[in-house]
Amino acid sequence: MFISKRVKDVAHSIPFFISEQAAKLRAEGRDISLFGAGETGFETPEYVKTAAKVAIDAGHTKYTAIAGILPLREAICKKLREDNGLEYTPDQIVVSNGAKQSLWNILYSVVNEGDEVIVIKPYWLTYAELVRLAGGVVVEVSDTKEIKAAITEKTRVIMLCTPNNPDGKVIHERELRALAKDLVGSGIWLISDEMYEKLIYGKTKHFSIARVYDKTITVGGVSKSIAMTGWRVGWTACCAEFAATMTRFQSHTTCSICTISQYAALEALSNKTEHDKFVSMVRQSFQERRDYVVKRLHGIAGVKFQEPEGAFYALVDVSKFGEAFEITQQLLQEADVAAVPCETFGAPGHIRLSYAQPMEALEKGLDRIEGFFARKIKEVK
Ligand code: PLP
Repeated sequence: MFISKRVKDVAHSIPFFISEQAAKLRAEGRDISLFGAGETGFETPEYVKTAAKVAIDAGHTKYTAIAGILPLREAICKKLREDNGLEYTPDQIVVSNGAKQSLWNILYSVVNEGDEVIVIKPYWLTYAELVRLAGGVVVEVSDTKEIKAAITEKTRVIMLCTPNNPDGKVIHERELRALAKDLVGSGIWLISDEMYEKLIYGKTKHFSIARVYDKTITVGGVSKSIAMTGWRVGWTACCAEFAATMTRFQSHTTCSICTISQYAALEALSNKTEHDKFVSMVRQSFQERRDYVVKRLHGIAGVKFQEPEGAFYALVDVSKFGEAFEITQQLLQEADVAAVPCETFGAPGHIRLSYAQPMEALEKGLDRIEGFFARKIKEVK
């Protein structure tokens, strides 16, 4: 079978691969602890579901403007103004099928064959695959301080993610301001993926770099904060000229996104009372789970990790025990635990544990993980 060069080498999205393995074992009757998926584990709130049903009955079932219905783009502008201190108008917003498509729209619109895209390790694996699909070359750095030295004539875009998937690291305001200072006048695009902006713990604060660097394209969505992964609603905010370019591109790929989802997202964002109540409940639950996971991981000999400040993942260094993929397969087969190996996240020797699961499931899963590594450490000794 002939497959294009571009697609031939695309890696399977490893979190989905692991989820499929876990689902198969579950179907065979095994009780698997799920640390794999990027799902919040919460049900979409009722007020959002109701809005979708109302939209269907009101006949909102046709194509819409490619960039999204005007009220939704207005609601996103309002959100960006109130939450992020950013001023945008609806012609600067493009609504897409999840932030994943937003990232694809951006990269395909700015990257030419051989252009370099700087990403900070560890990164969400989709970044690297999308860059390569767009014909670009991934340039890895370890933090924002290394970015300046990594810039060449071929650098087209820098990708940031805060809070980060897979390690929950937050890039703080001071670092972002310093980076913006280095970049002003460079003409380099900066993508700021802020999918997890609402899931930040302790005293840590979110800061949007678009406030200080105007070639920023801010990416956001409702998947994680309002438990709407399956509705597929994400967005970009940028200058009107680039928004028009992405809209032109999207008009030939997916057109407008699902109309019902747009009305659901509109209600999700604009019903402030319900929105804030739900987001605060989600954040609080994740804070508790994060604290619990941190406590338990500190008690496991032989593994290392940085305490996450946001999102719902912990990245764990298991290199003492072998290759990450191999470890996740052993965890699955020997300990009934599904976790994600992070070789393709620019983090060999590490596994990602998603703590988006109820407390009881977390406790049981961490007991299994602890038992597994206790056995392993005896083998290594
Ligand atoms: N950005 C990051 C860092 C993510 O982890 C994800 C999903 O896991 C996305 C973007 C895409 O989210 P969605 O396409 O569901 O809006």
